[in-house]
Amino acid sequence: MTTNNGRKDVIRNRMATTGESYNVAARNLKAMKDMGATRDAVLTQRWRPAPSLDVPCPCGGTCEPGETCDRCHARHRHVARHPGSLTEVETWADRYDCLGCSASYTLTITLPGRPWGVAETVIQGGSAEEVVRARVFPGVVHPQLRPEPSEED
Ligand SMILES: [Zn+2]
Ligand SMILES: [Zn+2]
Repeated sequence: MTTNNGRKDVIRNRMATTGESYNVAARNLKAMKDMGATRDAVLTQRWRPAPSLDVPCPCGGTCEPGETCDRCHARHRHVARHPGSLTEVETWADRYDCLGCSASYTLTITLPGRPWGVAETVIQGGSAEEVVRARVFPGVVHPQLRPEPSEED
């Protein structure tokens, strides 16, 4: 397994520079990775809508241009982003509001490398059924899932 060996090399490099044991180095590396992913996820979700359509959308250009409204013919503006799936951690839902009336719509998008959490396969119940369960990063608001309590609580 090449990927596994690569990971072990990274852990050994950390052991050599920090003097940590293998398990401690592995745990610290994972925590750093989770922290980076958590920060990215929070940034992906938390931004203020652009004041006008003349400036780039603060979500980072990962959205589609807003459609023209059928009712009032104004443009829609990207106003919010939430996790868009219960198990697909790179699926987000973008909400667009019309600038001229109360119309709005939601687009489901995939942001590769920008997960809102971690998907884990867990064995459930007496039938030993494998189910995918997603854990939401702290600070990310999921409309259907509760955040995991942090270990310090
Ligand atoms: Zn946007
Ligand atoms: Zn409208």
